[in-house]
Amino acid sequence: MSIISDETNGRNGKSPSLRGYLNSSLGSSGYNNGGLRGYRTALMETADDEKRLGIAGDGRFEGFSDPDDDSTFAGLVSKKAPNGEMPDASPLGYSLFDANGNMPISQDEREEMKILAERKISELFEILRIDRNDPNSAATPHRLAKMWVEELFRGRFEAPPKCTVFPNRKNVDELVISRGIKVMSVCSHHWQTISGTCVIAYIPGDSVIGLSKLTRIVDWFSRRGQIQEELGEQIADFLEELLKPQALGVVISAKHFCMIARGVSSNEDAALMTTSVLRGLLASDANLRNEFLTLIQ
Ligand SMILES: [Zn+2]
Repeated sequence: MSIISDETNGRNGKSPSLRGYLNSSLGSSGYNNGGLRGYRTALMETADDEKRLGIAGDGRFEGFSDPDDDSTFAGLVSKKAPNGEMPDASPLGYSLFDANGNMPISQDEREEMKILAERKISELFEILRIDRNDPNSAATPHRLAKMWVEELFRGRFEAPPKCTVFPNRKNVDELVISRGIKVMSVCSHHWQTISGTCVIAYIPGDSVIGLSKLTRIVDWFSRRGQIQEELGEQIADFLEELLKPQALGVVISAKHFCMIARGVSSNEDAALMTTSVLRGLLASDANLRNEFLTLIQ
């Protein structure tokens, strides 16, 4: 399936493992000393870096010596190639892939990912000048790292749900419709919540599927950075491949909190977006399509 990244694109093997990196570069750096000293130890790899960033020997920040020099930010983040393109692997050797792609990783790798993410989010807090002695914020980098890896972006790192299909023994050739499937996702553009429901309808070919599996498929694709249009297409591609149905419809209606919490600050109703993907007979047969759209209103 086109949306699932090829697993052979995984870690290229040449770079040090993440655990090795943590032990050698960050593990004993005393990141939690607080303040800019912590910031320094997480970002800096060489005395040169410290000089460019204007960190004095005692860890005080003295101003950027050259704010346009992005080589300052060595470490975990890729830099643009001279042709303007970003590389497809991180400095740690891990493949980078689209926000709504999938590349299963082990629980160990997820644990390591959470440690690194927590450190980077702590840096962000200090950039935003949030005092992490504030009791309400002290453990927030930890919570956020766990939330992104284990919940909101879970579908990037988990294998697809096991989806047993059953033979269509009664030769059902009417629409099978499942409504009200929960969609809880995050927009790729702003990392704000997308919350809504999905309707899936199909006319079986040789196979049928349990309705609970549809819920798990939608959840697997939703738990990633998404745009709603691509979410619907990904779900449809997956089901088409799995079921080879005669007709398939995926209709998603969802609120986009980037429209509610920021930007034009729409009211919640105006932030509702509906997308539909119609395939097979639902695309070619206008009567069937009308029947379907009436049924799901
Ligand atoms: Zn958005």
